[in-house]
Amino acid sequence: MSTFSGLFEEIPFISADRFDGENLRSKIFFLSHCHMDHMRGLDRPEGLPGPLYTSAVSRVLVRKQFPNVQDVRVLEIGSAEEISYESDGEEYRVVVTALPARHCPGSIMLLIQYRELKILYTGDFRLTKADLDSKFASLRQLEPDVVYLDSSFLKKCYPEFPTQTESIKKICDLITEWTSISPQHKVIIRIPAQYGSEFLFMEIGRKLKQKIYVANEQLEKYIFFPDMDQCISSNLKECNIFSLQKHEKGMFGSFHYRIIQPSALFWKNWTRGQPICKEENKNTIRVAYSSHSSYTELKDFIEFVKPKKVQLNVVSKMPEEMYKCLDEILGELEQSSKERKEPAIVKSRFDNLFRVPNSGYNRKYEEPIRMPIKRVKL
Ligand SMILES: [Zn+2]
Repeated sequence: MSTFSGLFEEIPFISADRFDGENLRSKIFFLSHCHMDHMRGLDRPEGLPGPLYTSAVSRVLVRKQFPNVQDVRVLEIGSAEEISYESDGEEYRVVVTALPARHCPGSIMLLIQYRELKILYTGDFRLTKADLDSKFASLRQLEPDVVYLDSSFLKKCYPEFPTQTESIKKICDLITEWTSISPQHKVIIRIPAQYGSEFLFMEIGRKLKQKIYVANEQLEKYIFFPDMDQCISSNLKECNIFSLQKHEKGMFGSFHYRIIQPSALFWKNWTRGQPICKEENKNTIRVAYSSHSSYTELKDFIEFVKPKKVQLNVVSKMPEEMYKCLDEILGELEQSSKERKEPAIVKSRFDNLFRVPNSGYNRKYEEPIRMPIKRVKL
């Protein structure tokens, strides 16, 4: 659950993923993806005091869900856009590049360049080392001044998760195994209410060519995603697969049902080679599934982009462990830079707030990454 304030201490008058309180003094706004913990304040009847930039998919969702937000603009994936804005007669300019975050349909990360600073805001993301190596060459050794990081699983007790492809295949196999026994055999998918399951449902629907029943009160969460109507239904009778938080006894009459519980939190200390599902009891099977990066993936990500400072976007009530993990990762990175005789780019310091660059570090900032720039002036 995001705890990011919405504001960037390095860049004045812009906000991302929070649209209330102090953020209403901002001039331009960004939305990384359409999960409710990233959309606080969008329901304000007056809308926003400036344009909202997001992906094409998220724009459709925002327009339908929040018609009060009038000015919603699209950031094309991978293309750098220059945006100018004014406050108190002073002009500001940022160059923003949206990158895929692989968290849910339409989710993006934001690379924001302001003056000589490079800021990378990940939103929520799930990227494996293989994703980085094959598709994210522009982030390799980017050395952003700050990474605002989705730290949901920055804990050593979550070293790895199966890939989403592996988890979805397992879930589909379990569904097919059960529903092929007889027409009376049905499957219930039980997902924690606060998480969006759009990608999972779309993949199950696509692979099994079946619709998933979603109760009326949940429909609103999914209905605005493009193509979602192909894989969900509120007609109990036409479905063999049901998305339910709980179900009343007798709801399915004489049907035999299997409950599948995809989740990440349950899978503490899971490592590759271990089974990705576990029978809870004779009716219920848990499957490891995460749309956030694991500890190892976060470490790989930090090593890949080599930030000078890291801010955590998800901080739990007891944050010490997260900051300790971050300290260790940055410490190792510093050590390996020293061994390779590279300039030290990060100083690891446990100050319970954020990481700071080495105070003696005066190497010139790199040129901003070169991409064709589209200019937009407010
Ligand atoms: Zn999310």
